[in-house]
Amino acid sequence: MTHDVHIIGGGLAGSEAAWQLARRGLRVRLSEMRGASAGNGGERSPAHQTDGLAELVCSNSLRSDDDEKNAVGLLHYEMRRCDSLIMAAAAKAQVPAGSALAVDRDVFSAEVEAALTAQPGLDIVRERIDRLPEAGLTIIATGPLTAEALAGSIGAATGAQSLAFFDAIAPIVYRDSIDMDVCWMASRWDKGDTKDYINCPMDKAQYLAFHAGLVAGEKTEFKQWEADTPYFQACMPIEVMAERGVDTLRFGPMKPVGLDDPRTGRWPHAVVQLRQDNKLGTIWNMVGFQTKLKHAEQVRLFRTIPGLQNAEFARLGGLHRNTFLNSPVLLDRQLRLRSAPHIRFAGQITGCEGYVESAAVGLLAGLMTAAELTGRDWQTPPRTTAMGALLAHITGDAEAESYQPMNVNFGLFPPPTPEVKKKQRKEAYTARAKADLDLWIPGIVV
Ligand SMILES: Cc1cc2nc3c(=O)[nH]c(=O)nc-3n(C[C@H](O)[C@H](O)[C@H](O)COP(=O)(O)OP(=O)(O)OC[C@H]3O[C@@H](n4cnc5c(N)ncnc54)[C@H](O)[C@@H]3O)c2cc1C
Repeated sequence: MTHDVHIIGGGLAGSEAAWQLARRGLRVRLSEMRGASAGNGGERSPAHQTDGLAELVCSNSLRSDDDEKNAVGLLHYEMRRCDSLIMAAAAKAQVPAGSALAVDRDVFSAEVEAALTAQPGLDIVRERIDRLPEAGLTIIATGPLTAEALAGSIGAATGAQSLAFFDAIAPIVYRDSIDMDVCWMASRWDKGDTKDYINCPMDKAQYLAFHAGLVAGEKTEFKQWEADTPYFQACMPIEVMAERGVDTLRFGPMKPVGLDDPRTGRWPHAVVQLRQDNKLGTIWNMVGFQTKLKHAEQVRLFRTIPGLQNAEFARLGGLHRNTFLNSPVLLDRQLRLRSAPHIRFAGQITGCEGYVESAAVGLLAGLMTAAELTGRDWQTPPRTTAMGALLAHITGDAEAESYQPMNVNFGLFPPPTPEVKKKQRKEAYTARAKADLDLWIPGIVV
């Protein structure tokens, strides 16, 4: 074997993982299907437009660069401290965008590719890989649009029926922005010992207004290539259900039966339920509320739900084609496939969402693999850092049943102790993360 690690996929995650390994003197084969000859499987995903490594497929923004009040800005900071190639290339390609870090996408991709090409011991091979390798340390970083044959091989290894499907995303709300003077905790028919759901009651007038808002609301259109992807009844967007009849939702996700409102002792006309989304209980998803409504429309309409009038959203709903694993079940804490531990996953295929998050998980996969190859103990990043919080969420802390791609956000972090006033909480999260990162970095900078 001519390499120590095989990385499949030269996007954000694969490029960052390759960098972290190669600069530690390890030999890497980085396989990227774009730019390969036809005989070697060369093809582009439906979203990629170029053959450049680390292509940004849509927006040119790596989002907020504020490392004092914003979780993704904090992730930037942490990645820079770990000598991230993606962050270094972004600095060179930066274009003005206020407090956001936006880049010239061509310069960005060229910077990443030039840095990797110059690394001794790193071979960039333009080839499509169709099967999971049976042996040898491997990082799969083929992204949300993994080529079909490999997706099939991953599906066979993980027991998933199909990995390419419409990813039905329901909005997620920060628990501390929900008005519990209006909502109440209960399970339907008081089943079980625990009161697992937050219930938002609606009277008839509120429900009818909400229904009309769903039907009239502005929606995002499917992209042409998305139209071929299978569509599951279980992932029906809420506004599509609303179009089927005025009461359809009251027999579906907004069903009130078995939910006695403690203030009236009766079932409301309709109920919106929220279910805990992480072990910390800081973020809650709106059950059955997957939607294609435009983001501004979602915020406006969902804040008309009683109890959610001040709701802050950790993530808004959406529906697009995606390939990702049920990582909390399938991967161990080091991103390794439990059933085949020579294989790690990195990037969006693990269920993180976004350019920066994908690159961060690539960075961690590179560091973990480097530790394994050099016989060092792996030190998990502290749970209080953005990298640690994201990793913990993906590898076991998220609820497996409702697992959906997730951006980094403060809801994934353990709340600061002692409790801090809401206004100062973001700064408290970032200050604590930076202090804890200082303790962790010396163990990984080898
Ligand atoms: C349409 C779309 C729009 C998006 N827009 C945004 C956005 O605006 N902002 C944002 O933050 N995030 C966005 N995302 C989400 C996500 O952050 C990006 O998809 C991100 O690029 C994921 O990084 P990655 O490294 O995991 O995958 P990618 O960057 O997609 O890299 C995967 C690489 O693997 C290669 N590959 C695939 N299969 C094989 C194979 N079998 N053999 C060899 N190579 C293979 C691909 O060619 C690709 O280069 C978007 C996703 C999609 C699908």
